[in-house]
Amino acid sequence: MTESVALGPGAEFDAIRSMLDRWGPRAWGIGDDAAVVTPPRGDHLLVSVDASIEGKHWVREWLTPREIGYRAVAAAMSDLAAMAARPVGILVALVLPVSWRPELAGIADGIGEAAELAHATILGGNVSDGGELSITTTVLGHAYEPLARSGALEGDHVYLTGRLGGTGAALRALQAGKAPSADDRVRFAHPVPRIEEARWLADRGASAGIDISDGLGGDLGHLAAASGVAIEIDLDAIPLATNVDLRAALASGEEYEIVVTSREPFDVAEFERRFAIPLTDIGSVRIASGGARVRSRDGGRIVELVRGHDHFMS
Ligand SMILES: [Mg+2]
Repeated sequence: MTESVALGPGAEFDAIRSMLDRWGPRAWGIGDDAAVVTPPRGDHLLVSVDASIEGKHWVREWLTPREIGYRAVAAAMSDLAAMAARPVGILVALVLPVSWRPELAGIADGIGEAAELAHATILGGNVSDGGELSITTTVLGHAYEPLARSGALEGDHVYLTGRLGGTGAALRALQAGKAPSADDRVRFAHPVPRIEEARWLADRGASAGIDISDGLGGDLGHLAAASGVAIEIDLDAIPLATNVDLRAALASGEEYEIVVTSREPFDVAEFERRFAIPLTDIGSVRIASGGARVRSRDGGRIVELVRGHDHFMS
């Protein structure tokens, strides 16, 4: 990586300069034509991209500019966490309508906060004009042995980090024009990608992993399909946010918790001491008959889990 170089004149570059001033040493190598990244020898480079769009993922009144910037980057970072990668850097493509220009400092501060929290450097990006605010974040990370969705085997335990449902509860309140509880609002506005947690789990033998960005039911289905297995979930075991019912928690998206599978049980007490969030054994991996699927064991009754969020579902 190289230090940032001087930028030429113009309003676009003034905007970039103002963000660079706020980011300070959190931004590196900006101003050249491309960023240079050097992962440790032998590691894989992992890359993912995620878009956060005004009117689609949130509306202006729900969040502060800083939260909007933070959340966009934290959400993208969760995909690196899902693969137990160590974050290196981010690239941010901003569409910044005229009405949002006065808020650029707050948005930049949120982007910087999320990058710093993940020990990632802001490596570059792009700013353009447009109709609504959108923040597209590309995240780069590295791992010697990335945790894929495809590694789950028959007999593995299924573990979930954290509690589910807070984000969905906040979203329902906001959509109804009500104030969410303080805890639920934090879950929605300031999600924490489980980066260290996932690496802890991978180091101790996790066989497959995924983050809960589309709801537990949907994302378990993705993991089951990728691994070619069935997953059976004990619904009573799933830790819920306060005042959230199970059905709502299962459908709650943008939770940014992690599900991993593992042949050997984890030391749950040690995990909880270290990270101060629950780690829960919620089920097990079975041989798939008739295709990969997720089933829940609800008091002996087998029921299909609800589908996750589909971005193209109207
Ligand atoms: Mg994901």
